[in-house]
Amino acid sequence: MTFELTQKLSEYIWINGEFLAWEDAKIHITTHSLHYGGSVFEGERAYNGEVFKLKEHTQRLIYSANAMGMEVEFTVDQIMVATMETLHKNNIRDGYVRPIIWRAPAGLKMFSKNINTNIAIIVASSKPDFKNNIRLVLAKFRKFSPLSIDVQAKSSVHYAVSFVSKQYAENSGYDDALMLDCDGFVAESSVSNIFFVTKDDIVVTPIADSFLNGITRQEIISLLAKKNINVQEVRIKTQDIFDYKDCFLTGTSIEIAGVREINLGEKTKFFTHTDFVQNLQKEYSLLVNK
Ligand code: PMP
Repeated sequence: MTFELTQKLSEYIWINGEFLAWEDAKIHITTHSLHYGGSVFEGERAYNGEVFKLKEHTQRLIYSANAMGMEVEFTVDQIMVATMETLHKNNIRDGYVRPIIWRAPAGLKMFSKNINTNIAIIVASSKPDFKNNIRLVLAKFRKFSPLSIDVQAKSSVHYAVSFVSKQYAENSGYDDALMLDCDGFVAESSVSNIFFVTKDDIVVTPIADSFLNGITRQEIISLLAKKNINVQEVRIKTQDIFDYKDCFLTGTSIEIAGVREINLGEKTKFFTHTDFVQNLQKEYSLLVNK
């Protein structure tokens, strides 16, 4: 009996302080996080040999691990060094970086004390293009309540909802889902934050207290503020979307992506594209050294 290996993305993976060949980087079927979720991870991008906001991502990784009850043997600085070494060892200058921390095999019980924690860093070559024609559909399920789980922890738990939402969107002929928070306010997309531009050229975005306050989101807010563009973090109802003239998503992976339409159930909102998003994409390129 053999087990599936996914498509090879790089030669080496860093695990718990050493490099393993791609083919050897396997985990056991009793791995706790496979059964009970709760692994935490990051998505980072390297541009021209530098990881954009490496420190912020690494700090968030440790924050997420602690929030999910895991202790990490490595410091932020050690993980940052290991990240750069993994990129160099694989000869990747432009790529995607995926550090992940998970609970080791621990029998089959949901809980036992002192379960070991593992950490790995996976890298893959990648050079994204900006997208501008994203079509969203309202997700069937809402995000978890911040009363149920730390929404600033980038844990696999959240991605169970993101996965079914994205799957539903693609099966319905859309690119991605618009997700609402547990109170029914606009939150984000499956793996990215959302912004709108009003008719008065004010930029509005949901308050990040029920979803991940993305590192890209924070960068965009400060970039817009430096340009003296009025940015407001507000509660957004689905019907407010009909008043906006433009919309874009932000995230490490998709960077900045223009949204063309949002299917909100009874009605669809079509955005008349302004050059706002394209201008922002150009500035983002300079910021990340793309
Ligand atoms: N929300 C979710 C659910 C995400 O998975 C991501 C990607 N990490 C984001 C927002 C954007 O976060 P960032 O800008 O830090 O990549």
